[in-house]
Amino acid sequence: MGRLLFLLVFVLIGVWLVRRALARADAPPAARPRSAELRPADELVGCAQCGVLLPRGEARSAGGAPYCSEEHARLGPRRR
Ligand SMILES: [Zn+2]
Repeated sequence: MGRLLFLLVFVLIGVWLVRRALARADAPPAARPRSAELRPADELVGCAQCGVLLPRGEARSAGGAPYCSEEHARLGPRRR
């Protein structure tokens, strides 16, 4: 009987964990703490020269395009 009770508690904990994980996944983005801290300056942009991703706040802007460094801003957009 003790083993059955242990199994029941184990299953209930498992169900609770799964439901908690699902509730977290279903939460709207605004309700998540990580997204609430995400400011537009943290948005990732690609360097117009080399394509490397960096936060918008750290990117140099030249001619309306983001660049990862002064060097790439000077070189301008990569020619295709
Ligand atoms: Zn670059």
